Amino acid sequence: MTMFDASLLLDPPAWPAAGYAGLADRIGRLLGTRGDVIFVQAEAVVALEAVASSLAAPSLKVLNIVTSPYGGLFGGWLRRGGAQVTDLVAEPARPVTVEAVKAALDAGGRVDAIALVHAESASGILNPLEGIAALAKARGSLLVVDAVASVGGHPLDVDALGIDIAVIGPQKALAGPAGVSAVSVSAKAWALIDRPGAPVDSVLSLLDQKRGWLDTGRGALPGTPPALEFHALDAALARIEQEGLENVLHRHAAAAAEARAGLAALGLEPFETGERASNLVTAVALPDAVDLGRLTALDIAVKAELTAGVGPGAERLVRINHTGRRADPAIVRATLAALAQALHRVGR
Ligand SMILES: *Cc1c(COP(=O)(O)O)cnc(C)c1O
Repeated sequence: MTMFDASLLLDPPAWPAAGYAGLADRIGRLLGTRGDVIFVQAEAVVALEAVASSLAAPSLKVLNIVTSPYGGLFGGWLRRGGAQVTDLVAEPARPVTVEAVKAALDAGGRVDAIALVHAESASGILNPLEGIAALAKARGSLLVVDAVASVGGHPLDVDALGIDIAVIGPQKALAGPAGVSAVSVSAKAWALIDRPGAPVDSVLSLLDQKRGWLDTGRGALPGTPPALEFHALDAALARIEQEGLENVLHRHAAAAAEARAGLAALGLEPFETGERASNLVTAVALPDAVDLGRLTALDIAVKAELTAGVGPGAERLVRINHTGRRADPAIVRATLAALAQALHRVGR
């Protein structure tokens, strides 16, 4: 089965209490922010739920952009907290357009917050973050970005773009652990979160993190932090810093270009290209005659991490994963060769 000795993971030294602030600062540097960075000691979906739960209040009006199941979940969590949410649902599995966001803003009244996913690993699309950030700035709306997939794969300049809340996880382009996530929070976002009646004493409360960690001088984290996850996060950040963020971004862009060129050579067309496509995953729409379930179940497809898209409109897509350690031209070429073989095996 596994090729490594899991007992090596036992009895790790505790991550030093004084070291959490340094880790947060390194994440802040990756994100280009001087604002606060806090940890959510769980997978990134929990961090997204915590952000929605902490922001949601009956007075809050949100324009929630939906380009995958993640956006749908986010809107649901906001509604559960009583927020007034308008979903802007893009064409299935496609990116939203700046024009559509502008029209939605023009149609309604006040919008306190705009929420979107930057890059979608579900379908391989990229949303026009810069244009949407400019609209948010012009209207004075809070900007909330799910950057779990995009961090390390696309430039993400939190302060320069005026992103108030960015949620990241190390498990995608940063090639780190999946069990700890981070959230950057601007002063403007804290002003909405830190209010009478805000959720507290909850794993979903960002305010707890502020009061229990930021406001007490960023020492020990509340509870027992998972040492393995923090050691792995440290190592993943060190590897990124060693390579240089610019090079990591470049590696992902080159992998995406390699995937698209290789598809063309196979006579296949990527689902999206150019500015509408992410550098993390290249999705291809397969002809209806191809049994996608059968194709992705083939050993060769499983080994090459060829998977079906996720969510409405992505059901007919097969995804070439070039995220993190897979953002490597040799791996992309091997994946394309596997795709060609798999297609052959299912009769194409
Ligand atoms: C991967 C990802 C997450 C984290 O969710 P998973 O449980 O890893 O699927 C959140 N948002 C986006 C946009 C992602 O790509």
